[in-house]
Amino acid sequence: MPWTIEQVKALVREFPDFPSKGVLFRDIFPIFREPEAVECLVDHLVERVRALGQRADAVVGLDARGFLLGPMIAGRLGVPFAPVRKGGKLPGPVARVTYEKEYGADAFEMQADAIAPGQAVVVVDDLLATGGSCRAAEELVAKLGGSVLLNAFVIALTGLEGAKRLRAPVYSLIEC
Ligand code: AMP
Repeated sequence: MPWTIEQVKALVREFPDFPSKGVLFRDIFPIFREPEAVECLVDHLVERVRALGQRADAVVGLDARGFLLGPMIAGRLGVPFAPVRKGGKLPGPVARVTYEKEYGADAFEMQADAIAPGQAVVVVDDLLATGGSCRAAEELVAKLGGSVLLNAFVIALTGLEGAKRLRAPVYSLIEC
């Protein structure tokens, strides 16, 4: 029997006080233990992108769990994948954006030739919390002359109102 998206959702686990006290960590890795659940999740997210009715020229994945689903979604759509990485990890010319995290500033980078000016992209990550990292990714895409069609997540913590910080629309499979 193929997996249903409701069965896929049920695989996400919660770990209280990880990586620090007070954080309820949402773990998507159990999905990756079930190859058909991964297929179902990727199908679901690809459908959401296709439903936009606009061509996505590339998929941009956020460091690090956006690298799990991003390339698979890009592959299905037949478009390139471009990583957003923490500062100092990507070789060659990069665009850089700094953003505020809970404890101080952090930097995200994209390779300068990762997307071409005028391209419309889909940003992918596992989870939307405050929206700070996705907002930085939106800024990086804009710096390279692109635009974001959709920010797609497995989970959104709606209480933190991360979507309000973002320019582009948000889709999340699970809202909690
Ligand atoms: P934010 O920039 O605040 O939206 O945080 C989102 C990023 O932090 C994503 O890349 C997530 O992987 C990670 N993250 C934040 N909160 C959690 C959480 N409760 N469980 C799992 N990952 C989280």
